Amino acid sequence: MKALVSALGNEIQSLFPEDSAFVADDLYTRRVYSKDLMPRVHLEAREGDLQEPSIDAVVWPADSEKLAKFVRAANEKGWELYPYGAGSGVCGGATPGRDQERHRPRISVDLKRLDKIELLDEKSQIAKVQGGIIGQVLEEDLNQRGFTLGHFPSSIYCSSFGGYLATRAAGQLSTYYGKIEDMVLAVEGVLPTGEFFTTPVAPRLAVGPDWNHLFLGSEGSLAFLTSAWVKVHKLAENRRFLSFVVSSTEKALEGVRQWMQEGLRPAVTRIYDEDESRMLMGIKDGVKLVCIIEGEQTLTDFTALRINQLTMKWPDWKDTGEEPAQHWWAHRYDISYNQQLILSHRRMILDTFEVSTSWAGLPSLHKHVKLATEAVAKRFPGKGEMLLVIAHFSHFYHCGGNIYFTLCGRSPEDTPTPEFYDGVWDELLKACEAQGAAISHHHGIGRLKALAYRRQRGVLHDVLKSFKHELDPKNILNPGNLGL
Ligand SMILES: Cc1cc2nc3c(=O)[nH]c(=O)nc-3n(C[C@H](O)[C@H](O)[C@H](O)COP(=O)(O)OP(=O)(O)OC[C@H]3O[C@@H](n4cnc5c(N)ncnc54)[C@H](O)[C@@H]3O)c2cc1C
Repeated sequence: MKALVSALGNEIQSLFPEDSAFVADDLYTRRVYSKDLMPRVHLEAREGDLQEPSIDAVVWPADSEKLAKFVRAANEKGWELYPYGAGSGVCGGATPGRDQERHRPRISVDLKRLDKIELLDEKSQIAKVQGGIIGQVLEEDLNQRGFTLGHFPSSIYCSSFGGYLATRAAGQLSTYYGKIEDMVLAVEGVLPTGEFFTTPVAPRLAVGPDWNHLFLGSEGSLAFLTSAWVKVHKLAENRRFLSFVVSSTEKALEGVRQWMQEGLRPAVTRIYDEDESRMLMGIKDGVKLVCIIEGEQTLTDFTALRINQLTMKWPDWKDTGEEPAQHWWAHRYDISYNQQLILSHRRMILDTFEVSTSWAGLPSLHKHVKLATEAVAKRFPGKGEMLLVIAHFSHFYHCGGNIYFTLCGRSPEDTPTPEFYDGVWDELLKACEAQGAAISHHHGIGRLKALAYRRQRGVLHDVLKSFKHELDPKNILNPGNLGL
C-alpha cells in the first residue's frame, strides 16, 4: 500500500484505522479514477490535454456497513462521492465533469470489495448478488453451481454487477434473458445520508410506485446499489445456430418482427445493415443476420424449426447455415477491445450510439441518424469526414428494438477534435429526439447525454431533481450526472 500524501487521505483513513486498504490518494490512482471509457476523455489526452485528476482520493469499503459509515461521514463533512463499479461506462457517469465547479473534496467510491453471491435459492431460481462483483466472475461462479444470470455485455470482463444495475445494461443474449432491469426482483443500497434501504422482494406486487425502477438506471446519482435479488436460469441444455443473408435491412427487420410477435425468443438475433455487412463481412448484396437459440432442447428445436419454416417462405431470405453464427459466438467479445487502436490516431474520433424505438419507427430512425452524422461532418469549416457510419440491430422486443451505430471520423485540421466530437454528438442526439426515439438503449446518459436527457424529459427532469434533493439535500452523490 502506498503512503497517504494528503490531509484528506489521512482524515479518511482515520475513520477506518483497522483497514489499511481503505483509501489511496497518490497521483497515479487519482488519475486512473478520474476517467471512465468515454471516448472524449481519451481524445483529449491524446491531443495533449492532460488534465489534473478530477478525483482527490479513492476508497474501497470492505462491506456495506463500512460503506454506510463512510457515506454518513462524507455527508456530514460535505465530501462529494462518485460511485465506481469498474469504470467501463462510456458516458462519463462515474467521474466529475470537466467543467464542474470544484469546491469540495471529491472521492471515488470503488465497490469491488462487495463481490459475493450472498444467496442462491435454487428452487425459486433467485440469487442475491453484491454490487461490486465483476460480470465474468459472477457468471463463472453461477455456472459452477449449474446456473446462469444470462447477462453477457461485451464488457463482461471489465464491468461490475452494480454498474449494470446503475446503467440498465443489456447483454448480448437479452432477447431471451432480458435486460438487467428485467432480471431484478429487488435492490438494496445506501442512500446519500448513509441510511440503508431495501425494496420489496417478490416476483410481482401491487404496491407502487415501483421502487426498483427509481434506482435502476440512476447512474450513481441517487444511491449506492450494494446488492440485488435477480432471477437466474439453469444452464442452457442446448444451443442452435442459424444465419441468413437477407436482401435489405428493412426486409430483415420485417422478418424478425414477425417471429418476435409470434412469441419466438432466440437469445441472439443480430441484423447488420448494408454498410456493416459490406465493410465487416464483405457481403456485397444484402445484409447478414445471425441467430442463436438457447435453452431446453425441445424448445430450442421448436424455435429453430419455426424460424426455418417461416424464412423458407420468404424469397428475400437465404439460409447461410450454422457457421457464421458459430463464428460470431466464438468471437463475440473481440471487437470492443480494438477501439483504442483507432483512437490512438491523431484527429480520429470513434464512438457508438445505441438507441431504441418501435418496429414502425426503426427504419426511419436508422436512416435519419446516418444522414445527420454525415451532414455534421460537412458543416465544419475545413470539413471533417465521417469515414464510417455503420449499424446493427441486436436487441429485440415484441414492440420494437434497438439500433447500435458505430461511427468513426476525422476532425478537420483547423478544429480541435473534441469540438468536432461534440458537434457530431449534438447532431446525433437531435436526430434521435426528432424521431421520438430513446437516446440510449443500454449505455445510459452520464454527462455525455445529460443536456439531451433534460430536453427530452422536460418537467419530469425537474421532478427527478426534487426527488434527488429529498434524498441528497447536500448534493454530495455524483453531482452533475444525468444533469442533476
Ligand atoms: C468494450 C465495451 C463494451 C461494452 N459493452 C456493453 C454491452 O454489451 N452492454 C451494455 O449495457 N454496456 C456495455 N458497455 C458499457 C458499460 O460496460 C456498461 O455501462 C456497464 O454497465 C458499466 O459497468 P461498470 O461497473 O464499469 O460501471 P462504471 O463505469 O464504474 O459506472 C457506470 C455508472 O454507474 C454508477 N455506478 C457503478 N456502480 C454503482 C453502484 N454499485 N451503485 C450505484 N451506482 C453505481 C457510476 O457512478 C456511473 O454513473 C461497454 C463498454 C465497453 C468499454
